[in-house]
Amino acid sequence: MPAPLTRPRLCYNVPSMNYPNSYPSLAKLLKRHNILVTSENLFLCLDVDAGQLTPTIYKILELVWLSVKDTHFLVLRGVPFCFLPYARHRILYPGLRKQTTRTIEACGSCCLQGKCPGWPAKSSYPLSRIQPVIDMPNEIVFEITARCNLSCRYCTGIKQAHTELSFAQVRTVLDEALALGIRAVRFTGGEPLLHPELLQMLSLAKQMGFYVLLNTNATILPDATRQVLARTVDNILVSLQGHDADSEKELTNDAQHSFTEKIRHLFQLRTIIPIFRVGTVISQPLLDRLPAYFLFIKTLRPNSWELFRPMALPLTDPRSEIPAFQKLLKTLLYMNQQGLRAILANAMPFCVLPDLTMAASVLLGAASDDGHSRLVMDARGYFKSSYFMPENIGPTIHSAWHSAERKNNCSVSLLPDACQSCDHFNWCLAGSRSMARFCSGTYQDLDPLFTTRPSNARHIMPGRNV
Ligand code: SF4
Ligand code: SF4
Repeated sequence: MPAPLTRPRLCYNVPSMNYPNSYPSLAKLLKRHNILVTSENLFLCLDVDAGQLTPTIYKILELVWLSVKDTHFLVLRGVPFCFLPYARHRILYPGLRKQTTRTIEACGSCCLQGKCPGWPAKSSYPLSRIQPVIDMPNEIVFEITARCNLSCRYCTGIKQAHTELSFAQVRTVLDEALALGIRAVRFTGGEPLLHPELLQMLSLAKQMGFYVLLNTNATILPDATRQVLARTVDNILVSLQGHDADSEKELTNDAQHSFTEKIRHLFQLRTIIPIFRVGTVISQPLLDRLPAYFLFIKTLRPNSWELFRPMALPLTDPRSEIPAFQKLLKTLLYMNQQGLRAILANAMPFCVLPDLTMAASVLLGAASDDGHSRLVMDARGYFKSSYFMPENIGPTIHSAWHSAERKNNCSVSLLPDACQSCDHFNWCLAGSRSMARFCSGTYQDLDPLFTTRPSNARHIMPGRNV
C-alpha cells in the first residue's frame, strides 16, 4: 500500500454561505482580491491571475469552492491543478500554455504531468505547500447492503436479501482510503439504514476525519438513529420519487410506509445535517407533473434537488429522448431562478442543449460519475467503477482504480476532436458510458444523446482571456 500522504485534511464544515444570500458578499471579497467573476444564471467563472497566487487567495478559493459548489456550476480559470486538487475537474488551466511556466519538484510525481503546462513562473507562492495531484478517486461509495424495503420502478440495485458488507470489510477499506488521502466516503444500499452496523460504520468514518455522505429513502428513522446521524453525517441524499402519497406509492411500489411519516423524517434530517439533498429519478409521471413536483420539493427547502437520468430503464428509446430532456433542463433552469437549486446529477452530454452555459448551470456532468472520480464497493465485496458499471474490477481501492478495465471503460481518448477541444470537456466527458453500453453493447462508444458541439460555444464565458 502506498505511504500515507501528509496533505492536511480539509475541513468541509465551514459555515455555509449558500446561494442566494451569500453571493453578493462573496463577490465583494473576490473583487477586493482581483479575482474576476463572470456569471450567467447559476454558472460562475472565476479568473485568477496565476502569477499572484498567495495563501490568502488559496483560502478564498477554498471557501468559494465549499460555499458555492453545491449551488452553482463553478469554473476556475488560471489556477494550477495542484493549487486546489480537490476542485481539479472544475479548473481550466491548460489555457496558460501561452504564458511562461516552469517545472517544480511536485510535477515529477504528479498524475497530470503532460496534461498540465506546469507551475506559473511568476508565482512566489511557497512551493513547500504544493503536493503533486494524486491519481486516486475523490470518493469511495459503500453499497453496504443489497436489501431494500422499497421496490422502485427505476432501481438498478441487485436486491439480494443476504448480501451485505461487514463492519470489518468497511474498516479495511476506510484504512486504505485514509492512507491514500481520499477525503469523502458515502454509505448507500439498497437501504443502508437496514444494515445493523451502519451507525458504527458512520461513527468510525467520522472519527477518521472523512467527509461522510449518506443516501437513504428515509422511510425508517428511529430517534436513536437520528441522533447518530446528526453527529456523523455531513451530507445526506434522500430518495423521494413522488410529489404526494399516491405518486410516491406508484413509483416505489410501497404500500407499507406512511408518506406523511417520511416527510416528517425529511424535515427532521434537514435540521440536523449540514447539506440536505433530495434525489428523484426522472420518470414519465415526473415529466407529466413537473409543476406539482416543483411546488412540493420547494417546501422541503433542500440544498439541492437532484434528478437522475434513468439508467436501468430509459424512458423510451434513448435516442429519441433529446426533446424531452431539453424541455426538462429548461424547466430546471427556471426552477433555479425561482430559488430551488435543481440539477440533473448524473452523466449527460452538455451539448444536448445548444447553449452550453445554460447546460452547465443545470448539469453536473460525467466527471462525478462513471468511474471518473469515485469507486463503488459492491455489497458482494468487490469494487466496481460506478453503480451502473457492475463489473468486478478489484478487491482494493488501489487495484480497482488502476485496473485496465476501469481505465479502458473511462478512457477519454476515443472521444471526438470536438470534445477534446471543448472547454467543458473536463466535467462533461461527453456523457454517460453506461448509457453507451446500454445502447451499443460497449463502453467504448458515445452516449446516445451525444450530438455535436455547437460551433460558437467553445469558450466557457466571456471575460479575461487567460
Ligand atoms: S504538473 Fe506540476 S504544476 Fe501541474 S498540477 Fe501537477 S504538480 Fe502542479
Ligand atoms: S462537445 Fe463534447 S465535451 Fe463539449 S459539451 Fe459537447 S459532448 Fe460535452
